Amino acid sequence: MQDNIQHQLSHKLILRIVELSIFTLLIDLTLRPLLVTLPIYFTWIGLLDLAIVTSLYIVVRFNIFPASEIMLSLVVAIIIIIPSFALSGGVNSQVAYLLPLYPVMAALIGGYRESLIITIILTIGVILSTVFSQHITDITGAIYSDQKSIDRGFWLTTSIIFSGVFGRFFLKRYTELTQQLKNENIQDPLTGLFNRRGLNLHFTKELDSADTTSSPLSLILIDIDYFKKINDMYGHDIGDVCLIEIANTLSQAIRKNDIIARFGGEEFIIILPNTPKNETVAIAEKLKVLISNQKFSSFNLSLTITQGLTEYNKNNDNALKMIKRADKALYKGKDKGRNCVEQSE
Ligand code: GH3
Ligand code: MG
Ligand code: MG
Repeated sequence: MQDNIQHQLSHKLILRIVELSIFTLLIDLTLRPLLVTLPIYFTWIGLLDLAIVTSLYIVVRFNIFPASEIMLSLVVAIIIIIPSFALSGGVNSQVAYLLPLYPVMAALIGGYRESLIITIILTIGVILSTVFSQHITDITGAIYSDQKSIDRGFWLTTSIIFSGVFGRFFLKRYTELTQQLKNENIQDPLTGLFNRRGLNLHFTKELDSADTTSSPLSLILIDIDYFKKINDMYGHDIGDVCLIEIANTLSQAIRKNDIIARFGGEEFIIILPNTPKNETVAIAEKLKVLISNQKFSSFNLSLTITQGLTEYNKNNDNALKMIKRADKALYKGKDKGRNCVEQSE
């Protein structure tokens, strides 16, 4: 849903940029002949440019190739900007000042690849316009000296490359920050494990993959025994330390592909892909021993866990039903005296 909104926003932004570029070209084509007499081929180049760009604009507007939309729109902008740039005086034109914006813009709405391609195209464009500056008049028909054109060409190229490099750094930082936000959104702040949202996300993925690969999948629901007593006797902060230490022990003991989450207060869930029930029992027994042998917090407290486990049933099963079955098994374990592993029926 969020991705969809983001996509719609970026689609609108892209369209506005392309519309603005087309508008610039139209102004150029209509106003310039009023100010200066141009060779007729300039007008033909401009009109051809307008025709190509309008067809590409329609492709973007109606989402004909959604996957290449960003690249297409940047190509549209370049097809417009390069000729308008050449038509209105090359490196000596006012349009030239806009060019360094493009690599950053490309990085923002596209990515590294788009920004690099735009930087290369613009750099080549600017070098060519500098070399052929004696043949390019500005909007008033003036031709600038070689020295002036070389100076401008040099600074323009430098700014475009700088903008490309800046775009790359900007994008790197932006990606890091959004990743950090995404992680925080699915992470439990106390234990660092996945929270409920993270669990839902991965659980759904694993169930889909178990369906397509027909491989078994199991779940263990873990609840710490008599945890309330720890809080009552030693305080909530020591309770928190115990929770963190238990979370660490559990997450270090499971395999790389298993997923562990803090399900509630002092409850954890482990999803075990490619694991049938009998193997899950062995893993749960190992966890039980690990926890009961460990001493927790600076008070060297002993703790135990009770576990309820269940296996994904390919017919008419889902995440909620699995958790309910595991919960029922867990309570059976609590009734039996705790510190034990119980399977669902
Ligand atoms: P049982 O063996 O039946 O599970 O007993 P219990 O005391 O563990 O069960 P109960 O559900 O009655 O208590 C769970 C306790 O976990 C209650 C609450 O004080 C504690 N708890 C839940 N979340 C946190 C937390 O984030 N930090 C701390 N310190 N304690 C928590
Ligand atoms: Mg509980
Ligand atoms: Mg408990």
